[in-house]
Amino acid sequence: MEAKQFDFIVIGGGIFGCYAALYLAGKGATVALLEKENRLFQKASLVNQARLHSGYHYPRSVATAALSDEHKHRFTEEHQAFVHTAFEKYYAIDRFGSFTDPEQFERFCRHLDIPCERIAAHPLFNFERLEAVYRTQEHSFDPVLLGEYYRQKVEQHPGITLFTGARIQQVAVSGSVWQLDCAAPTGALETPTVINATYAATNAVNRLFGLADLDLTHEISEIAFLSSIQFENKGLTVMDGPFGSIMPYGRSGLLSLSSVAYTHHKISYDNLPRFDCQSPDVPNCRPEAPGICTECPNRPPSNAYKMLRQMQQYFSEAVSFQYLFSYFTIKSKLKASYIDDGRPTEISMLKAQPKFFCLFAGKVNSIYEIEKII
Ligand SMILES: Cc1cc2nc3c(=O)[nH]c(=O)nc-3n(C[C@H](O)[C@H](O)[C@H](O)COP(=O)(O)OP(=O)(O)OC[C@H]3O[C@@H](n4cnc5c(N)ncnc54)[C@H](O)[C@@H]3O)c2cc1C
Repeated sequence: MEAKQFDFIVIGGGIFGCYAALYLAGKGATVALLEKENRLFQKASLVNQARLHSGYHYPRSVATAALSDEHKHRFTEEHQAFVHTAFEKYYAIDRFGSFTDPEQFERFCRHLDIPCERIAAHPLFNFERLEAVYRTQEHSFDPVLLGEYYRQKVEQHPGITLFTGARIQQVAVSGSVWQLDCAAPTGALETPTVINATYAATNAVNRLFGLADLDLTHEISEIAFLSSIQFENKGLTVMDGPFGSIMPYGRSGLLSLSSVAYTHHKISYDNLPRFDCQSPDVPNCRPEAPGICTECPNRPPSNAYKMLRQMQQYFSEAVSFQYLFSYFTIKSKLKASYIDDGRPTEISMLKAQPKFFCLFAGKVNSIYEIEKII
């Protein structure tokens, strides 16, 4: 069978893969976008806290904080219809066990030049537990609307051929060309340049191409969704350590809840996402090909009530929350982020001929890093 030829093959149909495909096709290239699942945007690009980072979250990694702030304005401008900018956002410091204190946090915000106004009182918060509360400016992107937007853009772009349900079976090199043998109906594909944008599956795909691993850890993570009459359209993030965050999930009207202590159910220190819930009765999830955790019968039981109990301490008695449902996915991090909790977006060229770029995503608004490198 004759192989289909493309200038680029992008593997992974989350926001980074979709953006890379659109950017390259926009320059006139022909691009094949390969997605393992039957739909785009089913994993980390859907299941996240939807925080359009301004930097506040990373007092231990000035580099991540500065990178978030660098791209925030462009991301907001180019995705205006999917960004919620009109809510009150508070950051606060727990009196006990925080890695930061008010003086450090204020100095950090001044250094980044991001607004933070300390408030002395607020009827919704419990100041006996919170040492300091700041009114800040942080927005939330809408992962569901973003997914719809990128799906349409990708499907309509004449330069992009989308292969969903794609299974790469074998990879070979012929001179300066990658030859991919994929299960039907994708078939045989050829390209001089591959971009791996598969996040939790980064190392599985690197290995398929005979290339080195990144040093990663993986966590099965839960984002819980809530509603609240009193805290509608508001957000609170408690810093910096094993605390949590409640904030609008884009424009959905829902609040997302996560907690450093309870969001992460299982941790894999293996470079592949290897978990004890993966078993032969769940054929679509293996360390080499992780699946969609929300749909998995073996996913861990929800920690939503634990997260809620933890967060409720920071609110006054006037505030109540209703738990609705949860999404689960694998969160992957560079092992090197262990100390500073940084989330850089790393793009490395692992092979020059034929070319292979490994794109490991940090924050959603750093999609533009692709333009600097590729
Ligand atoms: C719990 C959690 C909270 C987060 N909170 C935030 C936040 O508030 N703000 C923020 O900016 N970022 C946040 N992030 C990070 C952000 O969500 C990710 O960095 C980003 O979504 C990664 O996008 P991606 O396209 O690289 O990966 P994904 O969206 O995971 O897409 C990768 C795609 O590759 C596909 N794939 C895998 N293997 C193959 C294969 N062999 N062949 C073809 N396709 C394959 C997958 O099916 C998937 O669709 C959070 C992440 C998590 C998990």
